[in-house]
Amino acid sequence: EKTLHIIGGGLAGSEAAWQAANLGISVVIHEMRPKVETFAHKSGDLAEMVCSNSFRSDDHEQNAVGLLHWEMRQAGGLIMETAGEHRLPAGGALAVDRESFAAGVTKKILEHPLITVDYEEITELPSSGHWIIATGPLTSSALGEAIAAETGQNALAFFDAIAPIIYADSIDMSKAWMQSRYDKGDTEEERTAYLNCPMDKAQYDQFIDALLEAEKTEFHEGETAKYFDGCLPIEVMAERGRETLRHGPMKPVGLTNPHQPDVKAHAVVQLRRDNALGTLFNIVGFQTKMKYGAQATVFKSIPGLEGANFARLGGIHRNTFLNSPTLLDGQMRLKSQPHIRFAGQITGVEGYVESAAMGLLAGRLAAAEIKGEVMPDLPQDTATGALVHHITGGADAKTFQPMNINFGLFRPVEGLKGGRRGRTDRYKAYTDRAKNAWSEWLSVQG
Ligand code: FAD
Repeated sequence: EKTLHIIGGGLAGSEAAWQAANLGISVVIHEMRPKVETFAHKSGDLAEMVCSNSFRSDDHEQNAVGLLHWEMRQAGGLIMETAGEHRLPAGGALAVDRESFAAGVTKKILEHPLITVDYEEITELPSSGHWIIATGPLTSSALGEAIAAETGQNALAFFDAIAPIIYADSIDMSKAWMQSRYDKGDTEEERTAYLNCPMDKAQYDQFIDALLEAEKTEFHEGETAKYFDGCLPIEVMAERGRETLRHGPMKPVGLTNPHQPDVKAHAVVQLRRDNALGTLFNIVGFQTKMKYGAQATVFKSIPGLEGANFARLGGIHRNTFLNSPTLLDGQMRLKSQPHIRFAGQITGVEGYVESAAMGLLAGRLAAAEIKGEVMPDLPQDTATGALVHHITGGADAKTFQPMNINFGLFRPVEGLKGGRRGRTDRYKAYTDRAKNAWSEWLSVQG
């Protein structure tokens, strides 16, 4: 059996099909729409963009998402090619007419001689053959249950609860300090695993007022939440009482500020390392539905974070995703059922571009496997490689939440200036290095 089956013809599934078919593989896409609908999709087209019509920055020298665009174009990516054909003026961003874009992708897929589309919902995990599951954040509940039965309930989430993530080098260490509560831990690394930002009473009161006043996003229709048990948005905690946060994630106990050892902080904001490289930190317990603009203002009022540079802002959404660090191997195969790969948002990446990029990679890896070729490991210094490395290895499995592409996922380039001032040179060095590595990797498959 040499056919590749793909469940889900969204951004990731369409791209995966295109890549594999262009490498000579017969592909069947199984897509449940329009027969079975989701609360967000409006049409029966493949690759429907469910919310914004933007693929974000197209700058491939200074922006990590722009670099992903570049890598996908180099690989003959369907999503980027079609986006280019339906582009709308949007400054440095790649925005498209969403309807003609999806119609364009659908047409190309249906006309491809090696691709067939079966309009049906898949409700069970396939027991043999070559499969990619790319059913997205709104995976149908029957298939979601089948996946959870295989992975264990705790390894498949149905909501994300994302706290903002900050570049370590933008945190002011003359105000913040590293220490775990009560110095807990067996090693020095564990005893200094958290980064702490202290607040006095006036700062705390202002912070609570800002949280209460900030503009919030509403849940989408149909997205109503069972999530409220474990991960309340911080602004909801603040609404429950002005002291709630001070007794929750912001409690000041077990910590001593080395910059002011005699002053007892009124509250402490804690940040936790978010990746093995130590370049990213997330604010512990700060999942939020505040609008992005409001988040940046409110979080920059935290002492030590005045100059914070955000790798991603917080959010809470309906989102089916795997605990990829424990479940997937570096080739995106389910370790327990290696004939099944996952791709797209369900792997724990976040965004149209990231989802399509994971589809592109899965399609190429599956094609190589079916043809009996061995691909060299994908270089971690590419944007695609940095992302897949993060979700399948670099991220902490215990606190895993979906991730955008950002330069914090890249290994440092030696000998360059850190901090804000060196940023332009650093980003150019990352993108140059990535382009070389990606071109070389692609040339193996032709
Ligand atoms: P999808 O594009 O959703 O594709 C999955 C496909 O699988 C769908 O066509 C679905 O019908 C099908 N499917 C599901 N279950 C089955 C089954 N059992 N059998 C057969 N087919 C099945 N990202 C952004 O970058 N910008 C945004 O503005 C944005 N807004 C979003 C808004 C909402 C409400 C949601 C839920 C997500 C949003 N995202 C956004 C996140 C994400 O980028 C998109 O959801 C993106 O479409 C994910 O690509 P995908 O291919 O993984 O999933």
